[in-house]
Amino acid sequence: MLLFTPGPTPVPQNVRNAMSDETMHHRTPEFEAIFEKTRKHLFKLFNTDEVVMLSSSGTGAMEAAVINLCHNTLLNVNSGKFGERFGKIALANGLKNVEIKNEWNTPVSVEEVIEAVKNNSDIDAIAVQISESAGGLRHPVEEIAKAVKAINPNIMIIADGITAVGVEKIDITNIDCLIAGSQKALMLPPGLAILGLGNKAIEKIGKGKGYYFNLATEIKSQRKNTTAWTAATTLIIGLLEVLETIEKDGGIEKLYAKTEVRANAVQSALEAIGLHVYPKTPAKSMTTIDDEDASNIRKMLKNEFSVNVAGGQDHLNGKIFRINQMGLIQDYEMAWVVNAVEMVLSKLGRRAYDGRANRVFNEILFGI
Ligand SMILES: *Cc1c(COP(=O)(O)O)cnc(C)c1O
Repeated sequence: MLLFTPGPTPVPQNVRNAMSDETMHHRTPEFEAIFEKTRKHLFKLFNTDEVVMLSSSGTGAMEAAVINLCHNTLLNVNSGKFGERFGKIALANGLKNVEIKNEWNTPVSVEEVIEAVKNNSDIDAIAVQISESAGGLRHPVEEIAKAVKAINPNIMIIADGITAVGVEKIDITNIDCLIAGSQKALMLPPGLAILGLGNKAIEKIGKGKGYYFNLATEIKSQRKNTTAWTAATTLIIGLLEVLETIEKDGGIEKLYAKTEVRANAVQSALEAIGLHVYPKTPAKSMTTIDDEDASNIRKMLKNEFSVNVAGGQDHLNGKIFRINQMGLIQDYEMAWVVNAVEMVLSKLGRRAYDGRANRVFNEILFGI
């Protein structure tokens, strides 16, 4: 079965091998050496002043960012399940919350954010997804960050890059906190989250907030190549292997370029066979199709062509399907996925099969 959900994503064989050794003790020079190397790679990936690894799923890093960087009112951007989550985290932690809500195919505009900031001087942090995985859309995070900082440089910008870090180059000039998670673009099993932090964020963190997710405690330990609590040793060993593999494969810029072409190829191939791309501003992490047969298409892809793609949640349940484009994906696997979608449409009687999806895909991906 080909796993083509936008998280979890498949773990490469060499990464699985690297994680199959005996469990290492985390308070040892051996593990600290691995931790140090991994940190060095992460600094290059994030381009931030500090990086922190947490033993948690991505939501843990979202909570860590909110409690440590928002002390008054959080403005969150809700164009989907993950954006909504930021607001819930703020309220659960006794913070005030303002939300900008849009349909799941609609990115927030810079103007909406600026208006909200101008209308509420209590807002001291803004949380937004770079790629909102619920509908596969890209928010204009860099533009928002720039515009907000021009009004008030003390407002913290928390960018959830769980389906963006490792997918595309992110301009972190005005971003204070950038979040990644292991099981999406980083091709690992779930359970590890990473935060990239700017110096302004570190300043605001001060002594930190919370206990397990106190970022001041973590920063202090991680600068010494250890962690405050037990490290997710196996996942960090896997992360080092992933980051070394990307480097050996030609580097992160090559992966960004490859992902971009792949995203264009998949999207164009599916549009060429009459399918409709759901988000108004598609992210490179995934292609999201809205379709009345979405449920059937997914089932047939899985049962007849061994392709596992994701559906939609909440009001989009049964109305969309999402195809992953993150990670070191084999071209022949991706080609099979678009081909399978075309065969499913043919089986559903929607369109006579003529290989058009694969043709468009190959033309774009290989320049044939
Ligand atoms: C998956 C995801 C999360 C949540 O991560 P968990 O690992 O499920 O806690 C948050 N934000 C985005 C954009 C995601 O895709």
